[in-house]
Amino acid sequence: MLPVLIIGQGLAGTAVAWRLWERGLPFLVVDRDEPVTCSKVAAGLLTPITGMRLTLNEDYGARLAEAVPFYRHKERLLGQRFLYARPAVRLFKDHQEPRKWERRAPDPAVQAFVHQRPRQPLVDPQLFNAPHGGFQMKHAGYLDTAAYLAASRAFFARHDRWQAAEFDLADLAITPDQVRWQGGPFREVIFCTGWEAMRNPWFDWVPFAPARGTILTARADLPGERRILHCGCWLVAREDGTLRIGSTFETKFTHPHEADPAKLAALQAQIRSFVKVPVTLLDQQTAVRPAIAGQRTLIGRHPARPRVLFFNGLGSKGTLLSPHFSRRLVGHLLDSEPIPAAMDVAGNL
Ligand SMILES: Cc1cc2nc3c(=O)[nH]c(=O)nc-3n(C[C@H](O)[C@H](O)[C@H](O)COP(=O)(O)OP(=O)(O)OC[C@H]3O[C@@H](n4cnc5c(N)ncnc54)[C@H](O)[C@@H]3O)c2cc1C
Repeated sequence: MLPVLIIGQGLAGTAVAWRLWERGLPFLVVDRDEPVTCSKVAAGLLTPITGMRLTLNEDYGARLAEAVPFYRHKERLLGQRFLYARPAVRLFKDHQEPRKWERRAPDPAVQAFVHQRPRQPLVDPQLFNAPHGGFQMKHAGYLDTAAYLAASRAFFARHDRWQAAEFDLADLAITPDQVRWQGGPFREVIFCTGWEAMRNPWFDWVPFAPARGTILTARADLPGERRILHCGCWLVAREDGTLRIGSTFETKFTHPHEADPAKLAALQAQIRSFVKVPVTLLDQQTAVRPAIAGQRTLIGRHPARPRVLFFNGLGSKGTLLSPHFSRRLVGHLLDSEPIPAAMDVAGNL
């Protein structure tokens, strides 16, 4: 059987590769192997209730129920831990947010993710400024995306299914029965190229809405605090003892890896007003989230070239969503399962 060609090894391409591996189908992942990509710098957070409006993320419970066994399975296979269950605390930013929360909180769907008896006070007042209170969420955590991607890459490479290369569309030939690249025949090509898919002329009609973001690595002495804290910005203590702090969100940008100085200064000011102990910044990384208008993830075949497929629009939720959408895409590829209209890229032409 001919292999499937996957372009891009971010969270999207990696999940597709694993789905094909699970189904026993040959594939080759091609990635340019750059040190800073969206998936490599992501905090990998899984948070049920987010945003200014304190809403429960759509289908969070169902997506998490699929994501957790997916990552646990890879941990067992690769002998390495990536997924960390951590409660998440949402601290109110002002005196209006508690009132907003009073309206949301009684909903049983929301209650399923709210910790009923969090520690009191919610955060240590010696360490944090949190005068307006908040609530604690369960079924939250984070994926160490860099470790997951590196271990997956090493596994695929050991099985001759990974290649470092700059993919150029000009090198691809498509016939009715196959796709050819670098002399090799493939049955299909799947583009998992993140925000750069905007430059792919086959998919330039997709309403991309990419958003650049900067994330900080820092150190601070926060004894006993292992939860994810959201306070306008967010911070999480990682297994290696460092803190990740984030993140900016910029829809207008020119360079994908350059931080916006004003947004960065605002993030730093936010963290300094929230954390009472000294925070030492160690590093910062900037990358572009591949988002599509309407916060949609789109998968499926090119409407005129059925051997060309697409997986994009993970936005800020690649950790939560990539296991689900990769399963649907591979189900479509191998079992002709229909793709629901709302997530079918072809429906957007
Ligand atoms: C600051 C920041 C914080 C984030 N925090 C979170 C979070 O807490 N939780 C969460 O779930 N998500 C988070 N995200 C979003 C998450 O990272 C994305 O949803 C996810 O990484 C998208 O994965 P992707 O595979 O679609 O794209 P990418 O990660 O961009 O992967 C695309 C890959 O394709 C490769 N590629 C592209 N073109 C070519 C080519 N021509 N040839 C070869 N290779 C190519 C790239 O090098 C890259 O490796 C965050 C993102 C940012 C920027």
